[in-house]
Amino acid sequence: MKRVLVWVILFAMPVRSSLARNATRSAPAAQLAENAQVRAALAWFAPNLKWINDEQARLTEIPAPSFQEGQRAAAVKALLSASGLHVQIDAAGNVIGELPGLHEKEVVVLSAHLDTVFPAGTDVKVRRDGSRLLAPGISDNGTGLAALVAIARAIHEAQIKPQRTILFVANVGEEGEGNLRGMRALVESYRDRLKAVIVLDGAGTDHVTTIALASRRLEVVINGPGGHSWSDFGIPNPINALVRGSLRFINTKVPASQRTTFNLGQIEGGTSVNSIPHEAHLKVDVRSESEDELARLESALRDCMAAGVRDEMESSRDHSRGKLEWKLEVIGSRPGGELAANSPLLAALRAADVIVENESRIERSSTDANVPLALGIDAISIGAGGDGGGAHSLQEWYDPAGREMGLKRALLTLLGIADVAPEKTR
Ligand SMILES: [Zn+2]
Repeated sequence: MKRVLVWVILFAMPVRSSLARNATRSAPAAQLAENAQVRAALAWFAPNLKWINDEQARLTEIPAPSFQEGQRAAAVKALLSASGLHVQIDAAGNVIGELPGLHEKEVVVLSAHLDTVFPAGTDVKVRRDGSRLLAPGISDNGTGLAALVAIARAIHEAQIKPQRTILFVANVGEEGEGNLRGMRALVESYRDRLKAVIVLDGAGTDHVTTIALASRRLEVVINGPGGHSWSDFGIPNPINALVRGSLRFINTKVPASQRTTFNLGQIEGGTSVNSIPHEAHLKVDVRSESEDELARLESALRDCMAAGVRDEMESSRDHSRGKLEWKLEVIGSRPGGELAANSPLLAALRAADVIVENESRIERSSTDANVPLALGIDAISIGAGGDGGGAHSLQEWYDPAGREMGLKRALLTLLGIADVAPEKTR
């Protein structure tokens, strides 16, 4: 009995002291809103809401398809520089504005992606309809970018010195085939010093993404000899093979409990209605809560396409002009991961929610936060306030009503995790 009791005490001790440490660590979060400088930063937003809306519209009107973010990056660089930050653009094209902390060895990132899904030439002029702003990309991620520069400015105006170094980052390559390349490069550069990443993406204050949904984007290309629809009839047709393979693939069963999805998102091929095509392309997006299911779906697509090509070769009677060649390539891969329920970053977000009287739910999604989360680095993705809709469509809109709460929530989360240096230590 006695020995058991001793063991219990010995094992309980480190647990108790780590609890005490966590309690003192989370205390500054609660006191944050009482710090005079933090209050000054929070108060900066209300009189500057028009400026924030106008900058959002101005940035949205600078086209920034993935891989062509340069011009918008330069505009964000100028805005961050005006907030007293040392700003550089890295090799990937990310804009990085640095606010040195007392402990320069520890870095916290606040980021918003620069790129949009809209190709060059899309009309991105912002229209106003009542309080609403309408334009492709206005919410995703005009909202995040506007919040990024506004929060940097508020912290600058309030002359806040953080404990940990804060990097304000407008990153490239979040959307589609950008494949998170900007965040990958950023995390690669700062990996050893990186303590937390807060991603601002789109509108709202209703959620916090802490679970990174794993996804893969795959492309199938099938080539054949090609010819005339009448005189060459009987040679293998790449579009036929693609359709045969696709039909097999879309009958693949996916589990409902470990939610898994697939989407045949793009089909291209052929040159005219009376030509047997020499090429056919298919792009497929697969997502899952389970890495195993992702791998299973990728091999299912491979098997189905192999079978589709085989079926087409078997049913075509003329092989004299050649056969079908095909390949499957992974054009995007986003790793999965999950923020620990007891992480200081989630505690900072929850404390901020309490201060601004917001309630938010945990969400699972595929965002820039996937990259740090997959490496075990604390990260979340949140909306930057206001309301928006029609993301990735030409009808996209943003309503800034209520955005102030989103800005305060993001600022308090950031300062909660970066921590504010007491004035006497400056
Ligand atoms: Zn986005």
